[in-house]
Amino acid sequence: MLRRIADLLCGSDAGLHRMLQYWAATCVLYVVCILLLLLQVGQGLSNAGAAHGLIVFGACGACVFYVLIRANARLRLAPDQLAVAQAVFSLVCSVWAYAIAGPLRAAMLAMAVVIIVFCMFALRPRQTLMLSAAAIVGMGAVMWWLQARDPLRFPPMTELATFGYLAGALMSTALLSGEMHKLRARLKRQKKELSDALATIRVLATVDELTSLVNRRHMNDVLAAEERRKTGSLTTCIALLDIDFFKQVNDGYGHAAGDAVLRCFSAAARTSLRANDVLARWGGEEFLLLLPDAAPHDARAVLERMAERVHAMVVPGLDGKRISFSAGLATRRAGEPFAEVISRADHALYQAKEAGRDRIVLA
Ligand code: GH3
Ligand code: MG
Ligand code: MG
Repeated sequence: MLRRIADLLCGSDAGLHRMLQYWAATCVLYVVCILLLLLQVGQGLSNAGAAHGLIVFGACGACVFYVLIRANARLRLAPDQLAVAQAVFSLVCSVWAYAIAGPLRAAMLAMAVVIIVFCMFALRPRQTLMLSAAAIVGMGAVMWWLQARDPLRFPPMTELATFGYLAGALMSTALLSGEMHKLRARLKRQKKELSDALATIRVLATVDELTSLVNRRHMNDVLAAEERRKTGSLTTCIALLDIDFFKQVNDGYGHAAGDAVLRCFSAAARTSLRANDVLARWGGEEFLLLLPDAAPHDARAVLERMAERVHAMVVPGLDGKRISFSAGLATRRAGEPFAEVISRADHALYQAKEAGRDRIVLA
């Protein structure tokens, strides 16, 4: 219930949340100012009519900005346009508050500085600088007007000195905004570099560099996940494949040609798989094939299709030499750990090699 109300008020978009957070922070500032103004009116320090006018103006402005931010998915105003409009509105309020705050007016200047600090986070440095300049001009105008109208209550030298402090504070805050912008740009760049590095590490941790097949480490994770999966009545098969006389390729044609055989073998083998089969490079020229939900004859069909494609492949630099592989195929028994299934497949592979190679033997 509470969540639904929160969703209704704040929406579910992260960008909208951020804008509403800024809006809420501005509202806290308004509320503090309103309470102080009411206190001053109560003490007879401020004019009640002017103070009430400002309170109504501020409250209406806060409501209008809430509606604008909440409806911005449809209105499509640029976020910085909205932020500039909010900052201008808040500055008008602070100038107005300065004009009516009487002896406590200097306290209102802190509000103007806080508004410019908000701008540092939401706007570009140039926009922040322009708004600071506008705040200085606005405050300067109202100070000049106050001292010209009533020099006894608003001594010209006091107003001038106050103006000097304000201008200094606002300009140095605005200049800091440039540094802040550079810092944010650097953080953004570093975040991108970090996420690129993470993506690379993820690939390195799961993919074999030479063949682009799943590597042994990731295959162990796949097998562990498969062990946890409920398989129903269908069986899972495991095949261990080993390229025949691979050492002869390395010795006769060179290591680079051997690498080319591994790459071509992997590409040809991959095209023979079913959608859920996983083929991994298990070691040098040895591969492990996981065939989920496959009866032994389905698994054998996959391996025979693979053998045809491997026989037909043309490896560069090998002068048409025919490549073959031997395979040991094992069907997983109910609840049997994969370590044992692999061990049985390995034994069957050994038999395939003993029987003359280029064949599939069932465990
Ligand atoms: P068998 O038919 O009994 O399997 O004979 P084989 O020659 O294929 O088997 P053996 O295990 O004697 O040779 C495997 C060779 O694979 C030895 C090793 O140098 C080579 N090898 C392992 N990894 C790589 C690799 O990444 N690239 C290349 N080019 N050769 C590799
Ligand atoms: Mg071999
Ligand atoms: Mg081997």
